[in-house]
Amino acid sequence: MPLQIIKSPSKMQALAESLRRKGKIIGLVPTMGAIHEGHLRLVDIAVRKSDFVIASIFVNPTQFGPREDFSKYPRAFKSDCQKLEKAGVNVIFHPSVGDIYPENYSTFVDVGEMTTILEGTRRPGHFRGVATVCAKLFNITKPHIAVFGQKDGQQLAVLKRMVRDLNFDLKIIKGPIVRTSTGVAVSSRHSYLSAEGLEKAKVIYGSLKLAEKLIRNGIRNSRNIEAHMRNLIKSVPGAKIDYISFNRWDDLQPVRKLSGRVMISLVVIIKNVRLLDNIIINAK
Ligand code: AMP
Repeated sequence: MPLQIIKSPSKMQALAESLRRKGKIIGLVPTMGAIHEGHLRLVDIAVRKSDFVIASIFVNPTQFGPREDFSKYPRAFKSDCQKLEKAGVNVIFHPSVGDIYPENYSTFVDVGEMTTILEGTRRPGHFRGVATVCAKLFNITKPHIAVFGQKDGQQLAVLKRMVRDLNFDLKIIKGPIVRTSTGVAVSSRHSYLSAEGLEKAKVIYGSLKLAEKLIRNGIRNSRNIEAHMRNLIKSVPGAKIDYISFNRWDDLQPVRKLSGRVMISLVVIIKNVRLLDNIIINAK
């Protein structure tokens, strides 16, 4: 079946409804475009787990702060379509901002405390925008499964909570973080970085691997692990730590003494580009 591009929410809804009536399992992969290997890995998962794959491409204005990069966020619609089609996507849902937020739009989803920590402290309102657009995408594309990357670990946890709290009839699936050969988590915002910046960014995953090693060696005090991570990152000129955090997966409660599943997440700023990464480890 050739790739279809649908812009209208009501057309998308009608198609999703007819697929459901035929008993098809619908898989959704929401993206903001500038498609890379990380997105394609999520599509692979959706292709394996569903009969019909919808990828959305929508740069969502409500999740960007006033001083953030909404207008200069990379957009590459034509090549995105080619990549997604090759990966097995059946429909690209590509609405306009006006389709999603018509005049007098006034309804937002607030997932609560989990959205006020970590990225929420740096990007107030970000998760309100993410939760709202995802709630809308779920209602428009009616998926049985929706695949999100662990790369945005807090986003994944927030959306799982929203789906549970609001009884959305779908399952959120976590896709692994895709990295370059040097360990840098692939990101659409890499286009903002020079080759030198990307080289420096290696230290981010390096610090997470160091944390993993310390935990394997029996260290459980997060302060101690954080100090080692900070020392490593500080050894790279121009790499500025925004935060390093240890949180229980997946309710995101901060943890001092590690036990059970813990997300270690951090943001490092290199040449004004915020680079976000994490690992989820089991500290038995
Ligand atoms: P974005 O287009 O950046 O909003 O991302 C769309 C989806 O792709 C989100 O679920 C992200 O978590 C996921 N994603 C982004 N980068 C990666 C990566 N390097 N590996 C896996 N998933 C990713």
